[in-house]
Amino acid sequence: MKRKTDKMTATVIDGKAFAANVRGKVAAHVTRIKEENGITPGLAVVLVGEDPASQVYVRSKGKMTVEVGMKSVEHRLEADTSEEALLGLIAELNGDPSIHGILVQLPLPGHLDEDLVINSIDPAKDVDGFHISNVGLLGTGQKSMVPCTPLGCLMMLRDHHGSLSGMDAVVIGRSNIVGKPMAQLLLGDSCTVTIAHSRTKDLPDVVRRADIVVAAVGRSQMVPGDWIKPGATVIDVGINRIEKPEGGTRLVGDVDYDSCAAVAGAITPVPGGVGPMTIACLLANTLTACCRAHGLVEPKGLTA
Ligand code: NDP
Repeated sequence: MKRKTDKMTATVIDGKAFAANVRGKVAAHVTRIKEENGITPGLAVVLVGEDPASQVYVRSKGKMTVEVGMKSVEHRLEADTSEEALLGLIAELNGDPSIHGILVQLPLPGHLDEDLVINSIDPAKDVDGFHISNVGLLGTGQKSMVPCTPLGCLMMLRDHHGSLSGMDAVVIGRSNIVGKPMAQLLLGDSCTVTIAHSRTKDLPDVVRRADIVVAAVGRSQMVPGDWIKPGATVIDVGINRIEKPEGGTRLVGDVDYDSCAAVAGAITPVPGGVGPMTIACLLANTLTACCRAHGLVEPKGLTA
């Protein structure tokens, strides 16, 4: 899952290969519980409206769910679906024993209350880990469903470093989806954690102290190499589309890859870093939810 290139000093953490490995472990465990227990884990994805990016995500989630041997159910609802209808569907899925994970694709159209909708999902089936109960369980160090993107980052960090204990970690970004749960997970692994955000004073100085930098900002190539402590590990969560000088577009992260890779000890690329891990962790969470629902042994190394 790691490779060195001649041009750079940093080890490249290959999220694509890592994610394939996670999906392989999930598939093997799914096969076992199908054979031994006659249970097939099921994931339901609910998409409201026709946001093109969301449609792409939902399609690839469905495809990969089937590839690991799980049941995949998709509910595509009109953009003007009422809150009542959406809550009704979620209640049905909450009560469906063949469904172990429910994901409502965000963002929702403006007339729908995202918090209300997310908090109507049974916390045991909340494979995105966004339900307030799961947020509280994670915050108090208890067993929870962990948000997929930070879980993927944690898995790659543990794989690279072994123990993270005592390391200085800086998370740039304080969103509920990435920054805050990432910080909780790093704290859970005994890092000394700083959460930086748009009001942080002297961000370069804060980042320079970090052994681990997780950038989850949403600003293309914002972190330059001269902010990075030599040898630090850089996890780039950002996905930003920019224009290429020769025309067309390309994806870049929140860190300036070339200058950071020249200084860092290890770095995740964009694309092919954190992104593929997010879906792999969604599948891992669905399997975990299924095992917990049926009192089965949980797969090792696929949860926080
Ligand atoms: P949000 O917009 O919700 O949060 C961005 C955070 O960055 C905020 O806390 C904000 O601070 C902070 N920020 C903004 N500007 C600055 C700045 N100049 N200096 C320091 N901090 C700043 O984004 P998300 O957390 O949802 O996503 C972050 C990135 O990760 C995006 O590029 C997104 O596309 C990507 N992403 C990738 C995923 C994957 O699978 N790889 C999954 C989810 C997200 P403040 O709170 O003060 O406004």
